[in-house]
Amino acid sequence: MSIDSLTALIRTIPNFPKPGIQFRDVTTLLADGPGFGELVERLVAVARPLDPDLIVGIEARGFILGAALAAALGKGFVPVRKAGKLPGKTVGIDYVLEYGSDRLELHEGQVPAGARVVLVDDLIATGGTALAAAQLLREQGASVLMALFAVDLPDLGGKALLEEDGVATQALIA
Ligand code: 5GP
Repeated sequence: MSIDSLTALIRTIPNFPKPGIQFRDVTTLLADGPGFGELVERLVAVARPLDPDLIVGIEARGFILGAALAAALGKGFVPVRKAGKLPGKTVGIDYVLEYGSDRLELHEGQVPAGARVVLVDDLIATGGTALAAAQLLREQGASVLMALFAVDLPDLGGKALLEEDGVATQALIA
């Protein structure tokens, strides 16, 4: 299946979650068996040569893609969640959004120092979320081999932001 066919399976929902935002909804791609399979195969093809120790996925759709990728590679999966969701002891990072701030957390000890990780999410927009996750991983002593996304919205500059910070970044669909 071509990238164009994968792209066609993603729908755009106008004015979600706020007026003026064109939300790229990947659930229509996930709901398509051949499409989801192809997407995961393409993520595997990028990540396997990096030989990561762990796959780290960002809440929420990064869990779906990251878990599928981790299972395909036979590697562990670690979730990065919004504040207050993980039951065990956590380490976290606060980061600034356009309006206000947010916090991402990780279970303490699940990403050991020296771990080589691939960070996964469904989409990169401004890059703020992924940059905070990458910084949190680095604070644990991990190296982020790549931040990997299904979709990039290049006009929002997220890939450039991550790369300026030394995080190799790739998206299947731009
Ligand atoms: P950023 O921090 O790069 O501005 O936003 C990326 C985060 O918000 C990701 O976790 C992503 O899932 C979510 N996000 C922002 N805009 C969209 C969108 O249009 N579609 C989807 N599927 N997720 C989005």
